[in-house]
Amino acid sequence: MRIFLVALKILLLIILLALLTFFTQVGGLILLLSFLSHKFINNRTESVFWRGFWKTSAFLVLYFFVNIALLPFAARAFNRVPMPVFSEPHVKPLRLPGCIFNRHYVRPEVRAAVIETAERMQKESPGVVIQYLDGAFPLINHFPLWPHRSHGDGKKLDIAFHYLDVKTKKPVVDAPSFLGYGISEKPRPGESDFPLICGTDGHWQYNILDEIIPQGNHKNFIFDSTRTALLVNKFAASKTIDRILIEPHLKTRLGITSKKIRFHGCRAIRHDDHIHVQMK
Ligand SMILES: [Zn+2]
Repeated sequence: MRIFLVALKILLLIILLALLTFFTQVGGLILLLSFLSHKFINNRTESVFWRGFWKTSAFLVLYFFVNIALLPFAARAFNRVPMPVFSEPHVKPLRLPGCIFNRHYVRPEVRAAVIETAERMQKESPGVVIQYLDGAFPLINHFPLWPHRSHGDGKKLDIAFHYLDVKTKKPVVDAPSFLGYGISEKPRPGESDFPLICGTDGHWQYNILDEIIPQGNHKNFIFDSTRTALLVNKFAASKTIDRILIEPHLKTRLGITSKKIRFHGCRAIRHDDHIHVQMK
C-alpha cells in the first residue's frame, strides 16, 4: 500500500511538472526549486493543510519573483523581450494570464513595431489600443507553444480584432473570447470558406478552438471592421512586419490588398478570430 502511494505521488508530480512546463515553460523548473523550502515548512508544522498551503505559497512567490525579476533578463540571451503589460497606454495584453504564463515574449523589433503601429493609429482612431495575444516563450528556440505551429522564435505575435459594444455601439478594449481565440467572424454565404474546406479535408485542428470555446459572449460584441481594417493596413505599412495572416474571407470583406497578407494553409488554426503578424 505504501509503495502504491509513493508511486502515485511520483506519477502526479511528473504530470504536474509536465503541465507546468507545457503551459509556462519554466513553471516545472520553479516547482522543483520550491522543493528547497519543503524541509523548512515540514519542520514548522505537522498539519497537512498548512503544509500544503505554505508549499503552494512558496511556489507561487518564487514563480512570480522569477517571472517578473529574472526572466526578462534571461530572455535577452535569446534576443527576446516581454511585450508591455502596463507601461504603454496604447498596447496592452488582451488577457493578463497570457503574460503570467510567459507567452508574451517577442524579438525587440516586433515589440517596437507594435508600439509604433499603435501610435500611428491614433491619428485616425484616437485612443485605440492594440491588444496582443500570444507571442512566444522567453527561452529556447522552437519550444512548442500550443496551439501555434510557428510561434517558437519570437518573430510572431497574434493580435486581437477590434470590437464595438453591442448596446452602446462604441469601441471597447476587449474581445468576446475569454481566451482571446476561438470566437470567429465566420464566412458569410458567398464568401470563401476555408474553415469548411480545411475541416472537411481532415484538418481537425483548424477549427478546434471554435469547437471548445463557449460562444455565448459573441452576442455582446460587434466586429469593428473599420478599425480592424485600419489595424491590418497599419501593420502592412510597417517596415518590420513582413507577413500578416488573416482568413481570406475577411481579407476580401475588409478590402485589404497588401501583398504581405498570406493564407496560412490548412495545417494552421483558423485566423478569423485574430490576426498574426511576423517579422522576417
Ligand atoms: Zn500566430
